[in-house]
Amino acid sequence: MARQRRYEVIVVGLGAMGSATLFHLARRGVRTLGLEQFRAGHNFGSSHGDSRIIRETYFEHPLYVPLVQRAHELWRELERVSGEPLMKIVGGLMIGPADGMVVSGTLRSARDHGLPHEVLDAREVRARYPAFQLRQNLIAVLDPRAGFLDPEACTRAHLAGAVAAGAEARFEEPVLEWSIDSDGVRTRTTAATYHCERLVLAGGAWNSSLIRGLELPLSIERQTVFWFDRPASVTSFGPEDFPIYAYEFKPRTICYGFPELARGIKASVMHDGQIVSNPDKVDRRVADHEVEALRSALRPILPELADARVRESGVCLFTNTPDHDFIIDAHPDYPQVLVSSPCSGHGFKFASAIGELQADLLTTGKARFDLSPFRLDRPSLRS
Ligand SMILES: Cc1cc2nc3c(=O)[nH]c(=O)nc-3n(C[C@H](O)[C@H](O)[C@H](O)COP(=O)(O)OP(=O)(O)OC[C@H]3O[C@@H](n4cnc5c(N)ncnc54)[C@H](O)[C@@H]3O)c2cc1C
Repeated sequence: MARQRRYEVIVVGLGAMGSATLFHLARRGVRTLGLEQFRAGHNFGSSHGDSRIIRETYFEHPLYVPLVQRAHELWRELERVSGEPLMKIVGGLMIGPADGMVVSGTLRSARDHGLPHEVLDAREVRARYPAFQLRQNLIAVLDPRAGFLDPEACTRAHLAGAVAAGAEARFEEPVLEWSIDSDGVRTRTTAATYHCERLVLAGGAWNSSLIRGLELPLSIERQTVFWFDRPASVTSFGPEDFPIYAYEFKPRTICYGFPELARGIKASVMHDGQIVSNPDKVDRRVADHEVEALRSALRPILPELADARVRESGVCLFTNTPDHDFIIDAHPDYPQVLVSSPCSGHGFKFASAIGELQADLLTTGKARFDLSPFRLDRPSLRS
């Protein structure tokens, strides 16, 4: 006979956001079940690939600064709980022309929130970080509290902490459908039917098929990432000598990268990927020519890296909103269902704080941050 189990909250999707939400709910004693369609640590979604940037001076919009500050505290707390290193602060260079989106947006958020930062010209950048050789028309804003997270370790730590606090997590058990009945929310998977009072849809690139009744303009973008060998001519790309960076190589378009880690020196161009209609039918192979756009983007700041040998490549998925702001809101027709889509290529750093604020919403109905930019009824989401 099919199992019928009751929970206060069911979280669909145990990637970055789902695992963080499960953790914060379980720590409050909420009876919680997490359901994931793939195995733990899979690489079909948005949260794999050994590094994610975290930065405090947020060029996209200053409204993200309080959220990243809370996330920073919670990542440190999760390190203490799990005993695993999760976040390394190495500084970050936000590079571009002085009047570009990255430099001016970074300075705006630094000024609005009184954040520490330094403005460096090409010569000063080279003196401090010898691998960087910026062309003369470029400047950099140094964010001393930027660095990177280990996404696989962060998700693992959230899941382990959630289970230790009493949550259940089931893998390789896809959710097929959910519906509202007199008892709450009925959730059917390939293995069983479960009931809960509240449901969280944290399905990443699969969210469109989970959020029934709403036609959201979400687009799934295939992103390629590359790990390079260290160029022979440059002394060190290690985390002590090389910060994370985001470089606006053409108006409103960036490439970004990390110091050398075990897999190599990772870099990528942001938002230049193919839009795909089905996350299950993404081409996961990377053709040799796909690195060329990254090589030419990197050349004005890291000429040696631009010509280095590619050691490894990979594919990851962005789930984009038209304005690139997140979605965190109750479903308009089913208030017991929380829609969670914090991606557009920049969500990971916030996952710890989003897990906490989603747990707040589910247990108290209130959030400690202004979530109006993330509402489902904002104009940019109306088709
Ligand atoms: C290449 C790349 C680089 C990035 N770089 C950065 C960065 O430097 N800094 C940063 O802050 N952010 C970055 N991001 C964005 C960040 O990684 C994402 O915002 C974040 O990982 C999204 O997490 P998520 O939980 O929404 O999605 P995911 O982690 O993909 O989780 C969704 C989960 O839901 C599961 N699921 C879906 N449907 C079902 C179903 N029906 N039943 C059960 N389970 C289901 C999926 O299998 C998946 O595990 C990057 C993203 C990519 C792809």
